[in-house]
Amino acid sequence: MERVISGIRPTGNLHLGNYFGAVKSFVKMQDEYDCMFFIADWHSLTTHPTPENIRNSVKTILSEYLACGIDPDKAPIYVQSDVKQVLELYLYLNMNAYLGELERVTSFKEKVRKQPDNVNAGLLTYPCLMAADILMHKADKVPVGKDQEQNMEMARLFARRFNRIYNVEYFKEPASFHFADKAVKVPGLDGSGKMGKSEGNCLYLCDDEKTVTKKIMRAVTDQGPTQLNQEKPEVIQNLFTLCELLCGKEAADYYNDLYNRMEIRYGDMKKQMAADANKLLAPIREKITAYASDDALLERVMRQGAEAASARAEKTIEEVREIIGFRKI
Ligand code: AMP
Repeated sequence: MERVISGIRPTGNLHLGNYFGAVKSFVKMQDEYDCMFFIADWHSLTTHPTPENIRNSVKTILSEYLACGIDPDKAPIYVQSDVKQVLELYLYLNMNAYLGELERVTSFKEKVRKQPDNVNAGLLTYPCLMAADILMHKADKVPVGKDQEQNMEMARLFARRFNRIYNVEYFKEPASFHFADKAVKVPGLDGSGKMGKSEGNCLYLCDDEKTVTKKIMRAVTDQGPTQLNQEKPEVIQNLFTLCELLCGKEAADYYNDLYNRMEIRYGDMKKQMAADANKLLAPIREKITAYASDDALLERVMRQGAEAASARAEKTIEEVREIIGFRKI
């Protein structure tokens, strides 16, 4: 069975973009692949979170993953910092990564622009840590969005380079896994192209019923079409995309017809979107609350995940140490 690994940085609550763009597919994938999911808390240190931030956000993501239907008996969920072998592989990969190529990574350049006062070495070597997470488990496939494609290229480059330096066929090159024919891109409620935490345009999985309704009813629209069969402006197209995700194709087609006939009432469409969003989110929300208050269960899941991941990681590190020329410990 092919191995799949995916990590997420614990930087807040999951939103509908994370759900439709990733987590919903993970729930399906856990039956078809040998999956592991991890919470990338080491990666999150590049933005200097407080200990309190880290503890809470790890717990939050874990509760939300479980609530969405990831089953730790099928797919272990582990916390990155519980698997210390990753650090050792990270060090080895750092030794074979060059300043020039790391500086050219687009996400690094973006961070330099966004946080000029905190251009730390962790940001620069982010692709090395990501490669360590992936190569450690000999993953065949890694589900990634477009923004991570360059980091995946780096992981493949580091695998090839390690093999070449030590004249081995040890690491396999992980493939990027695009689980949908067409990558789902969930638009934001502000009419902008993408729902995202930093955009402040999200519907969160944990939002209560009233908040969901309020946010959708306030989603940005325009005055309505002024001609029959008019091409939709971007904000309206985005609303329709969201409508199709929440209410299904049939409902979106129905509103599309009304739009083409200039009979659309955005308020009606949004009411249905809010009702369907709440239908989708109510059971997830309930489970998030239940899991988040069950520390013993979360602890068990994290321990079980750490054991599964560490067992694999230990084997890899033993082999890598031998290849490099270190003693067996
Ligand atoms: P983030 O929380 O932004 O780091 O996103 C984690 C993952 O969720 C991404 O790699 C995507 O797979 C998915 N994702 C986030 N936002 C969206 C969105 N607006 N549309 C589709 N997928 C998304």
